[in-house]
Amino acid sequence: MTLFHWYWFATTLVAVFYFWLTYRLQDLKTSRFGLRTWQVLMLIVYCIYIAVLTTVLGYSGLTTGVSLVGGAMLAMLLIDKRIVWWGFILYVGFILVFTILPYFGLNAPSLRKVPLPAMYNDVVTNNPSEGYAYTQVAAIHDYLVNMTADYQSTVQAGVPTVASDGVSNAEIDQVLQVQRSNLLFWQMTSIYFSLPKAIVIVFLFRSLLTIIDRNKREIQYNADHDPLTGLKNRRSMLSWIHQSLFNDKHKNAYNQDYSVILLDLDYFKAINDSYGHPAGDQVLQDVSELLSHALMRRHEVSRYGGEEFLLALPNTSHSTALMIAEALRKEIEEHIIYIGNAMTLKVTASFGVSTLSQQDVTALQMSYMDALDKEILNTAKSNKMTEMVIHKLIEVADTALYEAKDSGRNQVASADQLVLSNKIAQPSFGLQ
Ligand code: GH3
Ligand code: MG
Ligand code: MG
Repeated sequence: MTLFHWYWFATTLVAVFYFWLTYRLQDLKTSRFGLRTWQVLMLIVYCIYIAVLTTVLGYSGLTTGVSLVGGAMLAMLLIDKRIVWWGFILYVGFILVFTILPYFGLNAPSLRKVPLPAMYNDVVTNNPSEGYAYTQVAAIHDYLVNMTADYQSTVQAGVPTVASDGVSNAEIDQVLQVQRSNLLFWQMTSIYFSLPKAIVIVFLFRSLLTIIDRNKREIQYNADHDPLTGLKNRRSMLSWIHQSLFNDKHKNAYNQDYSVILLDLDYFKAINDSYGHPAGDQVLQDVSELLSHALMRRHEVSRYGGEEFLLALPNTSHSTALMIAEALRKEIEEHIIYIGNAMTLKVTASFGVSTLSQQDVTALQMSYMDALDKEILNTAKSNKMTEMVIHKLIEVADTALYEAKDSGRNQVASADQLVLSNKIAQPSFGLQ
C-alpha cells in the first residue's frame, strides 16, 4: 500500500509538471533552442511515466496501449521525429526489460500482483479504532487472509463460488462488498494514472491545432502577397477591391466615387541593365514602402505586375485621386534610393487614374444586391459582372498610363481628361 502512495505522489508530480509545461511552452514559440530542450524534457518525463504505468498497471492494459502508441503518434506530428523514435524505443525497451525480469527471479512492483488481503491489511492496521467499519473490514480481512491461495485467485478473478468449507451468506456479502470497493479502487487508480496522459494528449492537440492554424495563415499570406515587396499581389488586390465595393460599408460608403491609380516605373529595364537585378529589386522595395506609407488606411496598394503598382481608393473622387497621384509622383521623383553603401539612385513613375462614378458604383451595388435579393443567388454571375467592371476600370487607368508614358513619362494622366479631349471614348461599364 505504501507503494500506492508513491505512485500517486509521482503521478501528481507528473501532472503538475505537464500543466506547468503547457503554460511554459506558450512563450517559447520563437525560441527554437528552448522549444527543443523542453520537448526533450517532456519526452523523457513521458517515457518514464509510461514505463512506470506499464509496470504498475500491467503490460497489456488499454491505458498503456493507448499511451504507448497514441503519445508517439501525436508527438511525431509536432516534435522532431528522431526524438520521438528515441523515446518510443526507450519505453518499448523498458517494457521488454520489465517483461523479462520475472524470468530472472526479479519481480518489478505491480499493482495487479498486490493481493486483496494486503490492501485491507493496510486499512485494518492503519485504522484500529473505526468502530463498526473496523469490525467489518477486520472480519473480511480475517476471512480473506484465512482463505487458501486458490480461493484468493477465484475472488480476484470473479464471483466467488460458495466454498465447500461452508462460508455463510453474510460472509459472501462482505466479500462482494470488498469486490465492489476493490473495483472502485481500481477505477479510481486507472483514472488517476491516466490524467497526465490526458493532459499530454490535450496539450499536443492544442499545439497541433496552433501549428495548423499558423501554417494556414502563413500559406494564405504567401498566396496573397508578393514576396519581394510584401505588398498584396494582383489576385488578392482584385478580391480586395471587390470586397471594398460591397461587403464593407466603411471602406466604400454608398454613393461615392471609386478611383484607381495604376503606376509604372519609368525606364526600369535600364536600371536592371545598368546596375543589376538586385539594384532593381531594391528600387521596387523602396517604391513599395514609399507607396504604403503615403496612402491612407482605407486605401490599398498592390504590386500589379513587374514594376507596376495598382492603388485602390474607395470613397475618392477623380480630382482627389489625381491630387494623390501627383503627390506620389513627386515623392517618388524626390526619393533617394540607396544601393549598397556607395551608390544612390532616383527613379520616376508614370500614372494613370480612372474613376467609377458614384452613379456607376450605386448601379453596380444595386444590381449586385438585386441578384442576391431575387434569390437567384447566382453569386458567380454577379461576381462576374463586378469582375468585368473592375477590369474595365483598371483597363481605362492603363490607357491613361500609356498616355502618360507617351507624353514623356514622369507624369499623371487622367482618364476623364482623355475622354473630355476625345482621346478615348467614354468608358461604358454596362451598368445603366
Ligand atoms: P517604361 O518606362 O516604358 O515602363 O520602360 P521600362 O523599362 O520600365 O519597361 P519594360 O516593360 O521594358 O521593363 C520592365 C522591366 O522590369 C523588365 C523586367 O526585367 C523588370 N522587372 C520585372 N520584375 C522585376 C523584379 O522583380 N525585379 C527586377 N529587378 N526587375 C524586374
Ligand atoms: Mg516601366
Ligand atoms: Mg511595365
